[in-house]
Amino acid sequence: MFFECDALIIGGGPSGLITGSLISKKGFKTIVLEEHKEIGRPEQCTGLVSWRIGNIPQELVLNRIETARFRFGKRYFEVSSPKKMVVIDRTGYDKHLAVKSLESMVEIKTGERAVGLKDGKIITNRGNTYLGRMIVGADGPNSITAKLVGLKQPGNVLFAIQCVAKGVFEQDVVELRFEPEFSKDGFAWVVPLSSNRARIGLVTEDNPLPRMRILLKKFDLEAIGKPVGDSVRYGIMNRTVAHGMILVGDAACQVKPFSLGGLVYGRICSEIAGEACVRALEEDALEEDFLKEVYDSAWKKTIGKALKKGLWMRRFFNLIRRVPASFVFIKTMSLGLLAGKILDPDFLEGKS
Ligand SMILES: Cc1cc2nc3c(=O)[nH]c(=O)nc-3n(C[C@H](O)[C@H](O)[C@H](O)COP(=O)(O)OP(=O)(O)OC[C@H]3O[C@@H](n4cnc5c(N)ncnc54)[C@H](O)[C@@H]3O)c2cc1C
Repeated sequence: MFFECDALIIGGGPSGLITGSLISKKGFKTIVLEEHKEIGRPEQCTGLVSWRIGNIPQELVLNRIETARFRFGKRYFEVSSPKKMVVIDRTGYDKHLAVKSLESMVEIKTGERAVGLKDGKIITNRGNTYLGRMIVGADGPNSITAKLVGLKQPGNVLFAIQCVAKGVFEQDVVELRFEPEFSKDGFAWVVPLSSNRARIGLVTEDNPLPRMRILLKKFDLEAIGKPVGDSVRYGIMNRTVAHGMILVGDAACQVKPFSLGGLVYGRICSEIAGEACVRALEEDALEEDFLKEVYDSAWKKTIGKALKKGLWMRRFFNLIRRVPASFVFIKTMSLGLLAGKILDPDFLEGKS
């Protein structure tokens, strides 16, 4: 079948749903294609976010976090953010955004995977053809939209995996663990949901599953259900627009290079993406140069510095983890306090 719309969004994750809602609210016909049968499933995210996630229903907040502990074996330092981080119900968050999209008259088509591009139209796994005046690639870290239009995503790819585990946890402390047995180039995390349940996971350059088994065994934790995961990609893309097309969220690497969280930057950039698409559709200005100005430059102006700080932080941590004693040094030299200032969890100091 053939479908036509003003904005065709590929990917029904948070970035696609937020962008789609904003466009549709302005009266433009918007279709979201999501490859999975159900929005928000599988849940492959720990859901640790700052207050910058914006207003979300209270029932989606599962826990509040006061302290982040950076640990290397017995050595550690702690950082407290002036405002609490929250752990959200990620499936619930996606479903909440989907309901808001439907209320804004977005058409969500699940089980529909974009597989190709022919004569400017998107072809799906079901053999359907979609023509959108604007195409928004919100299809995650391995974006097919980027490939189809020749936009190069950075080659920095890691693999993240997580599960819920039973154990004994400090309810308001997140632990980030930098021991090489869990990850050589990333870290492992313990994000409590309560005092006896936590989301635990790790991100690494190689196969994460054997490392996950080590993590569970070492801390005597019992996994509830199978670990799930995905790749994560970080870096700064040269270009996130093409004629009549933009990328947003993980597809555009709008991901914190240090912690690899993407929900907050994704939300911020989706709002910029929504406004940019509305302008492009209203002014019938689909040229790459226009989209570069209203979207690519605009989002880089907002989070570009933060991305650079995150890349710096990643390099710094990869350096100090080779000298475990530096964790004690940071603690004893009160660098934790300094880190507390540097460590705005989103590196967006001054922005609410
Ligand atoms: C294990 C793990 C833990 C994480 N923990 C955190 C965390 O604690 N905090 C945080 O901020 N971030 C975290 N992240 C990152 C976070 O999940 C992402 O940044 C966020 O999901 C990005 O949203 P998005 O909408 O841009 O992309 P996604 O959520 O990846 O959504 C993309 C959507 O596109 C769909 N799709 C892909 N290809 C196609 C196609 N060809 N056709 C149609 N649909 C398609 C996918 O099915 C998916 O639903 C974690 C990631 C992982 C893997």
